[in-house]
Amino acid sequence: MKFESLASSSHGNAYVVSDRDTRILLECGVPYKQLQKLAGFSLSEFKACLVSHEHKDHAKSVDDLLRRGMDVYMSPGTSEALGYADLAKLIEHMEQFNIGSFDIVPFTTFHDAAEPLGFLIKSRVDGDVLAFATDTVNLRYKFPGLNILAIEANYDKTVLERCEKLPEKVRHRITNAHMEIDTLCDYLSTLDLSECREIHLLHLSDATSREAEFIAKVARKVPRGIKIKACGK
Ligand SMILES: [Zn+2]
Repeated sequence: MKFESLASSSHGNAYVVSDRDTRILLECGVPYKQLQKLAGFSLSEFKACLVSHEHKDHAKSVDDLLRRGMDVYMSPGTSEALGYADLAKLIEHMEQFNIGSFDIVPFTTFHDAAEPLGFLIKSRVDGDVLAFATDTVNLRYKFPGLNILAIEANYDKTVLERCEKLPEKVRHRITNAHMEIDTLCDYLSTLDLSECREIHLLHLSDATSREAEFIAKVARKVPRGIKIKACGK
């Protein structure tokens, strides 16, 4: 199984998960034309798109994808917030479904959105297991047998504290909706990562993250040999 980031920031998120049989999009938070360009091939080659929540940086192209006949999966709350009552395919916390060779289990995440979800994806072709969670203050799931982890590393609280110009409202929103790097590191130390080979850090904030330091901090918490990457904006 392969995980690739096309865009990863508050300006737009889009990721590709594929195995030899199936290719899907996770998020479509950039304009449709840009999404086509970033994907590098026709979007008709994607079996479906999964959307974690209704914020535009994750859901901007839902309309375009639906209009072109793509299956777009989201929670009932996300669908309602976006106004796609009958169009989206609805999925629920802990209810497994399948797309091509992927078995997918959605799980609740913790964000200022209607009904946000993360996704645990297992390939029936190569047996790989991927967990994807972005825009979540924290996480507690254990994900046994994980091979690839794609997870938010949004901000560093000490950098945030020093951003004096940041309005209190924005500061409050960041700390109540996004994952801090030490929160992530604490979470990682609760996971069995013995089978894990890649960790992708998602959605790094423009002003309050430090890429090299985030990678170094994560490296100190996880077994040696795991490739740690910060996804480009
Ligand atoms: Zn969001």
